[in-house]
Formats: sequence, C-alpha cells, structure tokens
Amino acid sequence: MSLPATVIRRDVREISAYPVPESEGYLKLDAMENPYSLPDDLQKKLALHLSQVALNRYPRPAYTALKAKIREKLGIPHGYDVVVGNGSDELIAMLSLACAHQDRVAKVLAPAPTFVMYAVSARFAGMEYVSVPLKADFSLDMPAMLDAVKVHQPSILYLAYPNNPTGNLFSKEDMLTLVKAMENCGIVISDEAYQPFAQTTLMEHLPEYPNLVVMRTVSKLGLAGVRLGYMSASAGLLAEFDKVRPPYNVNVLTEAAVIFALEHLDVFDGQAAVIRAERERVAALLAGIEGITVRPSAANFLLFRLNDANSVFEKLLAKKVLIRNVGKMHILLDNYLRLTIGTPDENDQFLSILRTCLS
Ligand code: PMP
Repeated sequence: MSLPATVIRRDVREISAYPVPESEGYLKLDAMENPYSLPDDLQKKLALHLSQVALNRYPRPAYTALKAKIREKLGIPHGYDVVVGNGSDELIAMLSLACAHQDRVAKVLAPAPTFVMYAVSARFAGMEYVSVPLKADFSLDMPAMLDAVKVHQPSILYLAYPNNPTGNLFSKEDMLTLVKAMENCGIVISDEAYQPFAQTTLMEHLPEYPNLVVMRTVSKLGLAGVRLGYMSASAGLLAEFDKVRPPYNVNVLTEAAVIFALEHLDVFDGQAAVIRAERERVAALLAGIEGITVRPSAANFLLFRLNDANSVFEKLLAKKVLIRNVGKMHILLDNYLRLTIGTPDENDQFLSILRTCLS
C-alpha cells in the first residue's frame, strides 16, 4: 500500500481539494470579491503602517486592539466581544472542532443549497451533516426545518444571511423561530458574510438569544486577501470557541491591515454602495435578456437561470470570462449561473460577451 493510503483517512483521500480555477487573464467574476482596490493615498499610508509592524514577534494572542476596533466599528452589541479567525472558513472549522462530541455523533444542520464549507468542515470533524432543501423560491421550508431540529437535535445550525449561492435573505422571523427551537440542543450561526450588501443583521438579537452566533468576514468588503473573519456570541460560548483557536491564527500583517482599514471604513462602505447600485442595474439588464430569469439578491452576486447554462458557461470561459456554474451543486440550481458584481465597466463587458454567447 502507498504511504498516503496507509496514513491518510479514507474520506480525505476520496474527496478532491476545494476547487479554485486558474483566473490569470480572465474577466474574473466568480468569487464574490470586491473589484475595487484602495485609493492611492490610502495605499501609501497603509504601506507605511505595515512597515512599522514587528514581523519578528508573534501576534499577541488576545488580539486586544483588533477586537476593540471591530467592536467599535462593526456594530457588536454593548458588552459583547468577538473571536477572530483566518477568514470565516477558519471560524467554521473551529465551530466544528468545538462541537464534535466524541461520546456521540454530533450533527450539523443547514438548508440546501448553501455554502459548501459547512458540510466539508462538519465531515472532517466527524460530525453528521443533515441538509433540508429550500423551497422553490429559496425560502426556508419551516415545517421541514423544525422537524429536522426535533428529530436530529443538531449541535449547529448554519443559516447564511443572505444565502450563498442563492443570494436571498431568509425571513428574520423564521430564523429567530429556529434559534428559539434550537435553544436546548445547539447553536445557530447567522453567517453574515455579505452583510455590507444586505445591510441587515441579527447582531442586535444576541442579548435575547444565548445560543445565537453572528459570524462575519471582511472578505466581501474588499479585504479577501488579508483573511479575517470574526464572530460574536455570549461570553460563555466565545470562551469555549477561543480554546480551539490556534493561538496565533491571525498574523500581524492582517491584524494591522484590518485595524487600518476599519479606521477608513467609509471608503469600503462607499465601494459597497456602488456595488449594491451595480447589482440592481445589472439585474435589470440581465432580466431584460430573453430566456434569463434573475433571482432577487441581497449579496454582491446574482444568480440567474437560462436554458443550457452549461454550454453558455463554456462559451463564456472560451472568451476568458470566469463566472460560477452552480448547476451541479443542487437540483434546485439546475441551469443556474452565479455572477459576482464587478466594476460598471466589467459588468458591461460581461453583459456584452454574454449577449454574443447567446446569439
Ligand atoms: N460564508 C459564506 C456564506 C461565504 O459565501 C463565504 C465565502 N464565499 C465564506 C463564509 C468564507 O469567507 P472567508 O473569506 O472569510 O473565509
């Protein structure tokens, strides 16, 4: 037997790595990135700020200054703190690690389709992943969700708000009903990765619901490259999550860059506002193309359906346009493509190339 076959877990050997397509030279509208960089003057100030960081020292694991800045700028309720991660991907891994009981099979519940890392991370941690299909309009199937809570008593329920890849916001009332239904068995994660575009949150409900966790990232705001996620919850939960966090998980450059960025949050908020306006403009133009149905989105991407999405996707790729073909993710997504909103110029290029692919 080969060495990997001897030492590596069968389930790990049997899956493929998280796919990230080559994008050099492409019109890149596949990964929900903010298309804007920092204005020149801020780039220079940031360079100076980063040059003063002590690279020879480990980060201070309490991340006191970073957390204070997040609490100050990002609407964390009074008296609440955050735990930080190397992107929210790491926070999801930490949640799995903390909740994967060893004396029983702990379960993770989420609607489907949703963000793939919930399932990947749960399975890596040895948890059972249970999914409940969304309704055809991508809203939560509440009787089925409540039934799943009752039957499975999940340790974690993930609700992406808004959801990826469908782009819609679930009803807040439905989400809070589920938080209440989970109060004796598990925690509910409101994953607000797209909050800058949705401008709504469950953050203010933290004091009412001790089993609610609000998770966010600075990735979609315009800092995907620095990798920083944060989550807030009651102090008792945060203290436990912090124990499974690798002590120096957020590096000193990330810490310094995020503190700097949050001091200039108005710049990023301005970019998010432009992206929201572009989302509405592009949605209207896409919807005007015969055969295309665009779904409502509160995120920085649009999900749209068309006949023969696979062939259109391939034609776009051949023209060096990279969006995401989500058709194989779930039966509800058959013939759907997901487009990240770019700059007005990129969006116009996309629409024009799409029209040629369809003609
Ligand atoms: N949650 C959702 C719903 C996402 O779509 C993504 C990334 N696409 C993440 C979390 C991960 O974000 P990060 O870049 O912070 O790891």
